[in-house]
Amino acid sequence: MKVVWSESFTKHFFAPPSIVREWTARMKKFKEVVSGKVELVPPEEASLELFELVHCRSLIERIMELDSIGGVIDYGDTYIYPGSASTLVDVLGGVLRAAELAEEQGFGYTPYGGLHHAGKCRAAGFCPANDVAVLAEALARKGYRVAYLDFDVHHGDGTQEIFYERSDVLTVSVHMYYPGFYPGTGWYAELGAGEGKGYSLNVPLPPRSGDEAYAMVIDLIVKRAIENFEPDFVVAQMGVDGYWKDPLGGALNLTANTYYKIGEFLRSIEVPVAGAGGGGYGEGAVVPMLSELGFRIEEEPTPSPPEALERVEEVLRYFEENVSWF
Ligand SMILES: [Zn+2]
Repeated sequence: MKVVWSESFTKHFFAPPSIVREWTARMKKFKEVVSGKVELVPPEEASLELFELVHCRSLIERIMELDSIGGVIDYGDTYIYPGSASTLVDVLGGVLRAAELAEEQGFGYTPYGGLHHAGKCRAAGFCPANDVAVLAEALARKGYRVAYLDFDVHHGDGTQEIFYERSDVLTVSVHMYYPGFYPGTGWYAELGAGEGKGYSLNVPLPPRSGDEAYAMVIDLIVKRAIENFEPDFVVAQMGVDGYWKDPLGGALNLTANTYYKIGEFLRSIEVPVAGAGGGGYGEGAVVPMLSELGFRIEEEPTPSPPEALERVEEVLRYFEENVSWF
């Protein structure tokens, strides 16, 4: 199997310094562990301008400006460090290459990508610009029906915003939803608007949902969405920050079993699937990443509390009643 890799993935991340350290530890460990197991291929040539497929020119100009001096781009937690725009370009080149690999081998993967919080004209949540949205848009412009699946513990709010009024790009996000948990959106009633009504699906899970509830989400909701939407191409944000050991998002209490199942499901889809690594912090993130790539790692599955199982049933009923094609 070929997997995308660039040394620039270990150089920069768009977060406060303590989180940058966790991120680069993850990337370095990933490279060390997969070397010899998979064939590493470089990202495609890309450019900052390519982000204008989905973003406002003003946002791209701001990134260019900060790339020489460094600074915070969203007045919160998204940082541009001097020289980090070249990594951002490689991140975009990485998902574009993953899409090529998807056409060649069915499933393509890049460990760095899935900057899903960036919306049309705004950076947010360590995401200066949205690489996976660019890929989905580029595929849609080729005439493909695109399904975007987001397994990160955080709601894929930026990608949802960009495609909210579109019916040719379906977005499905499975995430933790709880007062005070970032970004605070992604309730199941957010279904899209106008033409796009019914083409934004959200599965908001309570804390400590566990493997059992997550398996139900995949088997009863995500699988059915793919079967009935019938995409030509799937773009997946495969964030592993819902893993039980994750220092930022582990509260969903998912084990390697869930990530193995996500990978298995994505590889079972009959159209090309391009996957991006998404969130995940520290060296420990490599365990769920390898699980997604099909390497089985033994861990005791986590049970699910009744409120998690009931939530899945509630969301399923809501989609059955409100989404005609589902
Ligand atoms: Zn995340």
